[in-house]
Amino acid sequence: MATTIGEKKVTVFGEEEAKQLVNELRVVAYDSGRTRSYSWRVTQLKNIVRMCDDSEKEVVEALYKDLAKPELEGTLYELGMIKNACKVALKELKNWIRPEKAKTSLTTFPSSAEIVSEPFGIVLIISAWNYPFLLSIDPVIGAIAAGNAVVLKPSELAPASSSLLAKLFAQYLDTSAIKVVEGAVPETSALLEQKWDKIMYTGNGRVGRIVMAAAAKHLTPVIMELGGKCPAVVDSDINLQVAMRRLIAGKWGCNNGQACISPDYILTTKDYAPKLVDALKTELERFYGKNQLESKDLSRIVNSNHFARLSKLLDDEKVSGKIVYGGEKDEEKLRIAPTILLDVPRDSLIMSEEIFGPLLPILMLNNIDESFDVINSGTKPLAAYIFTNNKKLKEKFVMSVSAGGIVVNDTTIHLAVHTVPFGGVGESGMGSYHGKFSFDAFSHKKAVLYRSFIGDAALRYPPYTGFKLRMMKALMGGSFLAILRALFRGSKP
Ligand code: NAD
Repeated sequence: MATTIGEKKVTVFGEEEAKQLVNELRVVAYDSGRTRSYSWRVTQLKNIVRMCDDSEKEVVEALYKDLAKPELEGTLYELGMIKNACKVALKELKNWIRPEKAKTSLTTFPSSAEIVSEPFGIVLIISAWNYPFLLSIDPVIGAIAAGNAVVLKPSELAPASSSLLAKLFAQYLDTSAIKVVEGAVPETSALLEQKWDKIMYTGNGRVGRIVMAAAAKHLTPVIMELGGKCPAVVDSDINLQVAMRRLIAGKWGCNNGQACISPDYILTTKDYAPKLVDALKTELERFYGKNQLESKDLSRIVNSNHFARLSKLLDDEKVSGKIVYGGEKDEEKLRIAPTILLDVPRDSLIMSEEIFGPLLPILMLNNIDESFDVINSGTKPLAAYIFTNNKKLKEKFVMSVSAGGIVVNDTTIHLAVHTVPFGGVGESGMGSYHGKFSFDAFSHKKAVLYRSFIGDAALRYPPYTGFKLRMMKALMGGSFLAILRALFRGSKP
């Protein structure tokens, strides 16, 4: 089997090769204990930091080739985030690895207990094209920190990034334990036939289902980092200019809307919508100028399929006449300008799927409370945003909207907070990572109970008597009084 990635033919990689790869990793890297040692983990993490520092120019170039991604976005949102994740792991790894003491109960007295984090073993990471470095390396950091051997399968839709990842991993990391397999569906399918100890997949829900079905054959646990429609509720009690700047940064400033946590649509009231649109237009022009198709600060659309998909959303007759800003396209250069659609019906095509591009529909409501019905009638989003100073509205939003994450008065930046988990819920995914959550995502939490040979109570051994039953019930209930009562009654059978 051979696949073409960009203009490059990738070496044949079928089921036999995949099987051999997994066997080799299991024997050489994992069973030998190589990946478990603290020093191995630290060396690999340090090497990732070095790799990022040394290769900044190459990474920026690859991102430009694949997506015309602006240098600032590539440097900060990919390399910067990767280096931060490594630094957090390097600083905290000793604490994360240390077994965690746990309380024991009277039932097991005398005893002590702890939770030991052990690596799963051999993990497969399948990543997506939109943040090809971050979404590949960030999970790898968690897998390494937890002591696993790893195979990374980058996305074939970002071919320059995929081949640079393969080159850099071979150059900087321990290739006997950390491998990159480039390829598309045939290669990924061959990998998925194998028995892994954990699989992490980032991408759309359709393929997510294929990955889960393959994992189910081996009862392999999965982390699913999926997408969906992320709503942004805009109330009138706000600093409008700041709100619109933050909304633009999360929408068009994140890979021109091709980001899983970009605001997908806005919910606001009929009364407030005109003011909001005016402010959005002003700030968009301030950021990207008048000719936004030519802006160097906006990524292009990844490929012609996605360009056609986005064009179709605009061609839907249910949104005809709704474009109030933008709408310009350049098919040859795969560019679409920031586009705002006002008063979009809920049954339009653009509201039926994740947009994943520079189009922003605005839905108009009679009052802001209606936004809860709109959001909660759809699938659970990966992120949900609200702009308001209203304390009650904020509280209601946090308590009644189910989403992977929520940000109040900003968009997307929760991704940079390593002390909170990043992941979806329902159709937007399962499992989470970032910071300690990445270490936990790739560790099995093993319960260990220690007992000695002293204090061997006869209570749990036959012959079972009424006294033993009463005493055991009292011990399990944990009440001192009940234990005394059982003892007292026990002395007069
Ligand atoms: P993609 O096309 O790059 O696919 C993702 C991976 O799946 C790739 O490695 C690809 O080779 C593999 N793949 C594709 N078809 C396959 C098949 N039939 N069998 C096995 N593997 C297959 O990326 P995409 O799906 O277009 O990514 C966009 C989606 O991902 C959006 O829905 C977005 O919201 C979501 N996403 C989520 C996150 C997150 O962190 N939750 C991050 C980025 C993207």
